[in-house]
Amino acid sequence: MHRFPTRCVHAGTIRDDVKKGINSPIYTSTSFAFIDQEDTVYPRYLNTPNERAVAEKIASLEDAESALVFSSGMAAISTVLFTFLGKGDHVVFQKGLYGGTTHFLDRELNRFGIEYDISASQSPEDIESCLKENTRLIYIETPSNPLLRITDLEGVARLARKAGVISVIDNTFASPVNQQPCRFGIDIVIHSATKYMGGHSDILAGAAAGKRSLMEEIYQTGLNFGGALNAMTLYLLERSLKTMHIRVERINQNAMELARFLESHPGISTVNYPGLASHPGHGIASRQMTGFGGMLSFEVKGQDGISFQRKLKLIKPSMSLGGLESICSSPAHTSHRHLGPEGRKSEGISEELIRFSAGIEDVEDLKADIEQAL
Ligand SMILES: *Cc1c(COP(=O)(O)O)cnc(C)c1O
Repeated sequence: MHRFPTRCVHAGTIRDDVKKGINSPIYTSTSFAFIDQEDTVYPRYLNTPNERAVAEKIASLEDAESALVFSSGMAAISTVLFTFLGKGDHVVFQKGLYGGTTHFLDRELNRFGIEYDISASQSPEDIESCLKENTRLIYIETPSNPLLRITDLEGVARLARKAGVISVIDNTFASPVNQQPCRFGIDIVIHSATKYMGGHSDILAGAAAGKRSLMEEIYQTGLNFGGALNAMTLYLLERSLKTMHIRVERINQNAMELARFLESHPGISTVNYPGLASHPGHGIASRQMTGFGGMLSFEVKGQDGISFQRKLKLIKPSMSLGGLESICSSPAHTSHRHLGPEGRKSEGISEELIRFSAGIEDVEDLKADIEQAL
């Protein structure tokens, strides 16, 4: 098998036998001839040539047997969860999930008769203590949002196997450049490809990858849920994945440099970045990640998140993450606002916390912008 950057460029590419072009041809059809064809091709069946091409690249990059591409990260998450869960089942979710996923649990699971618990921390012991007789699935996210806590992938995979339940991870924050959870025994990996995979803040997409037998079941549910991606966006996603390794490597470097800068700055009280030796999950992160990613968070001394962000000139206070431009947000005023002051306190989200997504700019310009805002 080729090395990772080579697979970013080449894995899954459709061979253009008609014109010998170097890129995958784009198949926009929603109607395909069916006589003398083995299977029916249709975009919602997740089986057009472009869907298969991108899925094959993602499977290769995640070291997974098989993958599917969806119209958004939430389409991937909801399809995976509803594939394996039904009335009377129980799920364990790790503490510190993406806001949209939390909203999904709150709103959708109970009304379908699905129970769940959220673990008290990221530790495998706390996750294990939530297991019940009817638990079907464990769902984790590492590094977590927005405190960048680290979950031990091998530990969770081991306990899931022992309990006979399916292990699922949202790997969006790390990207496959930095972390390939299937190699540690996790069954299914999910991505919001809107973030590092798309990488240019201009497409909405999702993906799931994992064991072939499980992906086959997800495929059958996916047909019914209809969250397939269109040909033009598939083309952009394939194009973006070819440069993902160099984008993310630069982003890793910038995030590391910024984390060190912030850690030694007198105007900052806390820095959460798994690449720092001071981070409680640094040891585990060093074992399971090849880079520490582009996400960090920090607390500004004596200034709430909104007033700090108003002073920034280059860095844009914005939602989302994983693009070329550095952006930041204030979780207390955005993703975690609905929790209220008490709820935020129990989650460790202060008014001063800033979540930061490092881009590919020159890091000196980023430091200068933060410096003047402080
Ligand atoms: C953005 C995001 C999602 C949801 O993805 P969409 O593409 O917006 O549907 C899920 N998980 C994480 C960690 C995310 O950052």
